[in-house]
This record gives sequence, structure tokens and C-alpha cells, in this order.
Amino acid sequence: MQQKTALVLGAGGFIGSHMVSRLKKEGYWVRGIDLKYPEFSPTTADNFQVFDLRNHNGLNQMMSIGGRETFDEIYQFAADMGGAGFVFSGENDADIMHNSALINLNVLEVQLRLNKTLGVNKTKIFYSSSACMYPEYNQTDPDNPNCREDSAYPANPDSEYGWEKLFSEHLYLAYNRNYGIPVAIARYHNIFGPEGTWMGGREKAPAAMCRKVAEASSGDTIEVWGDGKQTRSFLYIDECLEATRRLVMSQDFFGPVNIGSEEMVTINGLVDMVADIAGKEIKVKHIDGPLGVRGRNSDNSLYRENIGWAVSAPLRDGIEKTYSWVSEQVRLAKDSN
Ligand code: NAD
Repeated sequence: MQQKTALVLGAGGFIGSHMVSRLKKEGYWVRGIDLKYPEFSPTTADNFQVFDLRNHNGLNQMMSIGGRETFDEIYQFAADMGGAGFVFSGENDADIMHNSALINLNVLEVQLRLNKTLGVNKTKIFYSSSACMYPEYNQTDPDNPNCREDSAYPANPDSEYGWEKLFSEHLYLAYNRNYGIPVAIARYHNIFGPEGTWMGGREKAPAAMCRKVAEASSGDTIEVWGDGKQTRSFLYIDECLEATRRLVMSQDFFGPVNIGSEEMVTINGLVDMVADIAGKEIKVKHIDGPLGVRGRNSDNSLYRENIGWAVSAPLRDGIEKTYSWVSEQVRLAKDSN
């Protein structure tokens, strides 16, 4: 059988770099594209191109194998993105919308042109949307957020990041409807794990809490944005990759569908879990900061019904692995100062 080929966009980022390794383990030939190489370990891609996906020029070379063949699968992870401090401050809104929308517009248009030129239409494009596209009005009760796929409309995401994701979901569905381009769309809910951003302002809550606890001594106080009673669920990277691969392999179901964990936790609960894993007594000081919605949890009914599989690893397992990696980064950073 011929070796399968995959193109991973955003292959220098957190989920993209892990997806490259996963596809390599499955025997794919993989090309990665990103503005930068992965930060924490060398890429495992067969071919890696440093390229700005906002550029239309040269993209058809990047998205084909020698201009002669299209890829079997494309995983589109490239986006201007970060945690609450980046997405909800309002300061990055124009860049977030412009950069990410432009990437998605380019990817679809170049794929369409390649298909027409080469007389094929085999490439399935996976698009990573986000739970941030769900309306704010269904996520005000921390104990009872509604994030079923059919609760998306009337739309009212609480960030421009969420609006761009919603626009791009429609864009992928429109290219599927009008040009028959095979697509698969997931709405990710807070993916975390080793080799994710852990400092610098773009990190997400699990990495941020692991860093703060790792930097603290027992008895110290760490700062947490808001009252800490806001709820979230977090999905470990390996489960995210498995769920994504199963969705892409599905013959008749393409979403948009949630990929997340249904194990909801408060941010205070997350801090307690990290402190317990670290074996430290940690006090919390609540301060003002960007928050996002009051409550959010994944609802995996649609995924379960259509794919017949469910994510299952407890949050604590993933946090243990992530804490161990983040605390090592903290130690290395301290040693180099
Ligand atoms: P990430 O920031 O680690 O990775 C995104 C990558 O895209 C980065 O390496 C960045 O350099 C690259 N990129 C940005 N602009 C580019 C450009 N113009 N050209 C080429 N590359 C460019 O983010 P991630 O956590 O790996 O997320 C991957 C995708 O999944 C994103 O689209 C994100 O919106 C989506 N998502 C992630 C989460 C999560 O919890 N991590 C949740 C919901 C959705």
C-alpha cells in the first residue's frame, strides 16, 4: 500500500507538533509548516518549512508534493492564539481576526486551485475550531454551562477569537458544500499537556497553575484571576489526538463536534489538584484579570453517538504529567539565570 501523506499547518505549535509525532508513529509521510520550529524538542516531520501562511505566493508549492500531488490529509492548527491573557484583553483582537481568517481563506483557496489543476479532490482538511465560539449567554452558570453543538446559535461568542473560529467553521463548510472538499471540524475545549506554552502571557490555565505552583515554596501564596469559582474542563493532549484522528478517519461524520473532557473543575479546584500533586501547601490570592465565560464544559454526546468512542482519562493523570514537565522547565530556567 502507498504511504499516506499529511500536511500539518501550525506544526511548530503545541497541538501541531504532537500531531506530527502521532502521524509519524502511524506511518505517514508528514510535512509541517509554521512560522517557527517547535520550541521544546526537534520536529519529527519528514519535511518542515518555515513559512507564513498569510502569504498566498508560494503556498501551492507548500501545499503539494512537488507541485504534482496533493496530500491525503491536512491538519489546520495554525492560528494567532493564546490563553485568556492574550485572547480576552482586547489588545490583540485585530491581529487575531485578520491573521487567522487569512490563513483559513488561503488554505481553502489554494487547495481548491490545486485540485482543479491536478484534476483530483482527495485531500481531507481537518479544522481546529474552539469552544470559544459558543454563545456567552449559555455559559453564565458555572454549574450548568450548555455547550451542546446545537446551542451555537443565535451566535454570541465572548471574544473576537471565538467569532473568527465561527466564521472559519462556516468557510470550511461552504467549500465542502460548493466544491466537495472533504472536511472535518472539531471544537476543542482547553487542550493541555507537556510541551505547551507555560510562560510569557500566552499560556493556558493548567500550564499557568503548574508554573505558579512549581515556582512557589510550601506556604506561599499564588495569584489567581477572578474568584476562582469559574468552571472549565481540560483535555489531555494524547486524548485530543486520538479523538481527532478518529474524527478524520470517519467516512460519514465530519462535525462540527466537541472534542473535550466532561470532567468539569473550578479554577480553585485545579490549583488544589496541582498543589496536591506537588506536595505543597499553597494559598491563593484572588486578583482582577481577564476571565472569559463563567462556566464551560464539553458535551460529548454527539461525538459518542457518531464515532462510538469517548475520552476517558481523568484530569489528574494529565495534570501529573504536565506538572512534572512544567516544573522541570522552571528548574532549567532557574539554573540558566
Ligand atoms: P499554538 O499557538 O501552540 O500553535 C499555533 C501555531 O500556529 C503556532 O506555532 C504559530 O507559530 C503558528 N502560526 C500562527 N500564525 C501563523 C502563520 N501566519 N503562518 C504559519 N504558522 C502560523 O496553539 P495550539 O494550542 O497548538 O492550538 C492549535 C489550534 O487549535 C489553534 O487553531 C487553536 O485555535 C485551536 N484550539 C486550541 C485549543 C487549546 O486549548 N490549545 C483550544 C481550542 C482551539
